[in-house]
This record gives sequence, structure tokens and C-alpha cells, in this order.
Amino acid sequence: MRRCNRVPSGRTHNRINIIALLVILLSLFSLLKKPVLPFPSSYMESRRIIIFSLAYLFGTFFLSPDLDVKSGPYNRWGVFKIIWLPYQFFGHRGILHHPVLGPVILTLTPAILLYFLLLLLNIDAGELPVWIWTSTLSGIFISIEIHCLSDLLWGKICRQWR
Ligand SMILES: [Zn+2]
Repeated sequence: MRRCNRVPSGRTHNRINIIALLVILLSLFSLLKKPVLPFPSSYMESRRIIIFSLAYLFGTFFLSPDLDVKSGPYNRWGVFKIIWLPYQFFGHRGILHHPVLGPVILTLTPAILLYFLLLLLNIDAGELPVWIWTSTLSGIFISIEIHCLSDLLWGKICRQWR
């Protein structure tokens, strides 16, 4: 009999997130063909979808709530992984797995560092168009929410299918 862990492994999290991205993209394209909701057509611009998808993948592989332990996403940050160390004091599945605080903290931590880096390079991040911000943030947020949802439901679903 197959054993069910309470939460998915790192590799399973990656698979779930990639499958969810494909479902989101297929849903978007089907909405483009046959609009069911009053969905603004500007949401379907390929540049928005590409930025959203890249941000979503970055969120999956680099901004996972599992940065609260020495995990794959934590190690991918290389020498910069030190910025995530303070969150490990809150314990695994703590504050970074909160459905609201998690995405906010996971997005703001590198954003603040990036802001100062851009300031040093004399680049004004405020000049970027709003659609880039909304596409990027929604991609990151949704990837984190799917991680939290997977952690929440994995044990129950696995036991049903065993
Ligand atoms: Zn997790």
C-alpha cells in the first residue's frame, strides 16, 4: 500500500504547480475563443500571458512558501539564500504558508532588495507600466496560493486515491 504524506514533496509541488499553470492557460485560451464572463480582452494579450507565466514559474521555483526550511527553492537562491534565513525561525508551515501574509512577505522581501539595487543603478522602477506589475504579481501570488492549497488538501486527496 502506498504511503500518504501529509503534504506533497518538493517535486510533487512543482508538478502540481505546472499542471495548474497549464489548466489556467488553457482556460484563458478557451475564454478567448468563447467568452463566458465579461472578461476584458486586454487580459488575453500574449505579452501579459507570457509575463504572468514567467512570474508564476519564478514563484514556483524561487518564491515557494517552503523557503521556511532548507528546501529546493531555498537552495536555488545560492549565496542570496541568506535573505530567507530569518523566516526559518518561524518554523515550517508557519507565516510563509499563511494564505495572505505568505504571498505578501514572499513578494516584498526580494522586491525591497530589488528596489535598492535599481536605486543604486539609477533605474526608476515606477516607470514600468502597470500591466507588467499586475501580470507579475498575479503570477507570483497564484503560484504561492496553489502551493498552500496543495499543502492543505494533499493528505486528504492522497488517502482517497490510495
Ligand atoms: Zn509547503
